[in-house]
Amino acid sequence: MPELNAESTAFRAALEVVRSVEPRIADAIAQELTDQRESLKLIASENYASPAVLLAMGNWLSDKYAEGTIGRRFYAGCQNVDAVESIAVEHAKALFGAPYAYVQPHSGIDANLVAYWAILADRVEVPYLKKFEKRQINDLTDAEWAELRQAFGNQRLLGMSLDAGGHLTHGFRPNISGKMFDQRSYGVDMATGQIDYAALRETAREFKPAVIVGGYSAYPRKVNFATLREIADEVGATFMVDMAHFAGLVAGGVFTGDFNPIPHAHIVTTTTHKSLRGPRGGAVFCQPELSAQVDRGCPMVLGGPLPHVMAAKAIAFAEARRPEFSTYAQQIVTNSQALAEGLLKRGVRLVSGGTDNHLVLIDVHPFGITGRQAEQALLDSGIVTNRNAIPQDPNGAWYTSGIRIGTPALTSRGLGVAEMDQIAELIHNVLSATTPAEGSKAKFNLDPALADRISKQATELLAPFPLYPSVDLG
Ligand code: PLP
Repeated sequence: MPELNAESTAFRAALEVVRSVEPRIADAIAQELTDQRESLKLIASENYASPAVLLAMGNWLSDKYAEGTIGRRFYAGCQNVDAVESIAVEHAKALFGAPYAYVQPHSGIDANLVAYWAILADRVEVPYLKKFEKRQINDLTDAEWAELRQAFGNQRLLGMSLDAGGHLTHGFRPNISGKMFDQRSYGVDMATGQIDYAALRETAREFKPAVIVGGYSAYPRKVNFATLREIADEVGATFMVDMAHFAGLVAGGVFTGDFNPIPHAHIVTTTTHKSLRGPRGGAVFCQPELSAQVDRGCPMVLGGPLPHVMAAKAIAFAEARRPEFSTYAQQIVTNSQALAEGLLKRGVRLVSGGTDNHLVLIDVHPFGITGRQAEQALLDSGIVTNRNAIPQDPNGAWYTSGIRIGTPALTSRGLGVAEMDQIAELIHNVLSATTPAEGSKAKFNLDPALADRISKQATELLAPFPLYPSVDLG
């Protein structure tokens, strides 16, 4: 028998140990690999982390409580967590050229909460403590504390509207950020589908926000962060960027100059699991003057840090510092543009007419269907995407008129420009064959034989690009 490689040995052994306690969990883990291998994943926010990233998470670092920061913990015995977090911070700062990095957030939403409270502490709490001549909030009288709490609730935030591609955490009511801030949105120019910077400047002048948020979940273009910083400076706002979606493109040097948020924003948040290809988690980068406030993230809004995930973040940041990652990041955009081109030449309408980044937003309205119908029709045909609102969406945020597709995951698998054109063909074939069921925004008609045929074509297309080729579970 040929000798197994290290990855296969490690994952097989781990599954065996898990199986000895609860075989159904081992089965679900193994099945997830099979399912991912067979699926044409075009979800713009997903990726495939390396075996080293995955394995760094499965160990006893998870057992440690380590509230606090490096070298200043509320628990004894954190020397190894200190080492892990320091290495993650070292790689993160070097990767992004950031003066300060905080790698504890458990997710992107958590990273945004850390950032918002750092900004509020800097802009509201510190001046109030000074005004009342108190050192810390526990020293305030009840009346002073009540006044400060009122002031926290009176701050304004300007972020991208949801239908233009913003994220719920950018001040929308269903998220805690919408309950904390008085929010107003900026959107896109309906003629170009791109951010209307002049209108944004006008809104900022009139609304006078404390915080301007740049960044998005579903905007297919570059953002000029130099211009946004200029506007923030003009109105005295703190400029925050949520680069959760495109952090990999920043890390890989695809977004540079005015389009790299790190030198322009006061504070930048990210997830680590999307285009950055790391473990599920978050991080915050900031200018030195905000670092002390960012460090208060745990226990202010975060539970104890996840040392095993910080270990995996360190591995992912180290991987992203390799030259191959820049090639990968560039290929994400090349593939995204090829996919856009393939769709456009088949007559599909794209929001903004194309893409500068890792995602493409299809307007399915001309096909006479909703985003919800399109999403399910594509899924039935073996193509995994998600529905998304488009600017001024007539179908609202639930049914939508858009399909968001992204290339980070398939690029990790090795697919290139030729395959993108074939995928565009498959998507076009499904969308043009789908019709709405009478009176429904969710139900639709699609010939099952066609869906089946496309599903087989999708599987064939993936065959030369095995996922996790070094992992053989036997
Ligand atoms: N910020 C943006 C721009 C996102 O797109 C997302 C997730 O989709 C998040 C934050 C939240 O990330 P998480 O799911 O890790 O909390």
